[in-house]
Amino acid sequence: KRAPQGLKKGSIMSIITRFAPSPTGRLHVGNARTALFCALFAKANGGQFMLRLDDTDAERSTEAFAQGIVDDLTWLGLPYDLTAKQSDRFEAYDAAFNKLKEMGLVYACYETPDELDLKRKRQRARGKPPVYDRAALELSDEEKTKLEAEGRSPHWRFKLSGNKVSWQDLVRGDQLVDTSSLSDPVLVRADGTYLYTLPSVVDDLDFNITHIIRGEDHVTNSAAQIELIAALAGEGGDIPVFAHHPLLVMADGSALSKRLGSLSLESLREDGIDPMSINSLIARLGTPDPVEAHTEMAPIVAGFDLTRLGRAPARFDPAELHRLNVKLLQSLPYEKVADKLLSLGVNCDDKQTGTLFWETVKGNIDKLEDAVALWQIIQGPVESLIDSEDREYLDTAMDCLPVEPWDETSWSQWTTELKKSSGRKGKELFMPLRKALTGQAHGPEMQNLLLLIGPTHVKNRLKG
Ligand code: GLU
Repeated sequence: KRAPQGLKKGSIMSIITRFAPSPTGRLHVGNARTALFCALFAKANGGQFMLRLDDTDAERSTEAFAQGIVDDLTWLGLPYDLTAKQSDRFEAYDAAFNKLKEMGLVYACYETPDELDLKRKRQRARGKPPVYDRAALELSDEEKTKLEAEGRSPHWRFKLSGNKVSWQDLVRGDQLVDTSSLSDPVLVRADGTYLYTLPSVVDDLDFNITHIIRGEDHVTNSAAQIELIAALAGEGGDIPVFAHHPLLVMADGSALSKRLGSLSLESLREDGIDPMSINSLIARLGTPDPVEAHTEMAPIVAGFDLTRLGRAPARFDPAELHRLNVKLLQSLPYEKVADKLLSLGVNCDDKQTGTLFWETVKGNIDKLEDAVALWQIIQGPVESLIDSEDREYLDTAMDCLPVEPWDETSWSQWTTELKKSSGRKGKELFMPLRKALTGQAHGPEMQNLLLLIGPTHVKNRLKG
């Protein structure tokens, strides 16, 4: 019963992690980091990584966001081995809920949200923590019937044990939560829909999740969830291992939430950020380990260790991501960018030209898209920049052009010759050539550009 979807539970438990976003938005760097941790942990331990869509909130969850999350994970290079969505699994949740009912572990409550709010206000006013007072536990059958006759439908709470729950958190170490300090969690709303808690626990059990890796905003949920898991799994049921990582905050310590739009993977991709720059950075933030630009997952997996995460929030600086992205881009060989360049319209005829182009321009770009403008300089049309006082000089330059075919020595032959003929040197010598040939005052090495632009364009541009 506990192993649907063809999963076999072997004698040696294989590791299964899950990333469980709600499809109510796209992924941003913060939740991508959780996904990465889940994927890396599974990979590092020869386990499996599951994508679970927590889509029980039918109003806010959309198919488009679900697809967006799949696209984002695919783009990041975090393929999942298993997937499930909660909206397919209501039968399993109903069965678990009925089981809890039979065990007397859930109870019907009739307070309206306003009444609960009032209770909490009174508790606070008396300096007490706003914990649910369990008034509903005292209701007699008669009183319940009367409330229902008044048109109230019950919501259902799980009865916490009131004991201390402990677990060994992979990031936070020994954890101890006194469940008598918590409100009994609501599992089912008055309209019959499930809140996150029960479906999450049922899924973690049914899919044999061994490691629950998530943000530390879920720490208090864990105590209640552990009690629920114990109730549902019974004797001999394994409680998953928990790892609650500190959340990502902005470099100045402010919450990520204010800038989520610009920190969505979708917009980072539009900004020309390579997914491996994101992985390289967010896998190491919050650890004492150095951030390096990795173009492959293997070294990221090899250096990954959840226990190296500190307890302080990890700071994310978009500028650091951009710097890393430039570094990573510049470390790539032509073969790794050829397809992408082609799709951007940089259609180098052959590998040799492509390699020369890439080696020439990569130091001058911040993102791959920037290469398009540089390709434009080579392909033309280019509006030559020619100052009137350089006209004669450029005619001399035309006369001094080296013999064809040109090679990597041609630029130096040309400028040596031109220096002799014109008497110019330094900037006076080089700048008019650059401006005439590229239409700009700065750019990549002229030696290579000369070769890439080629004699026909060079002659035309010298003429202006
Ligand atoms: N859907 C929950 C969230 O996005 C999942 C939390 C968990 O990993 O259990 O916060």
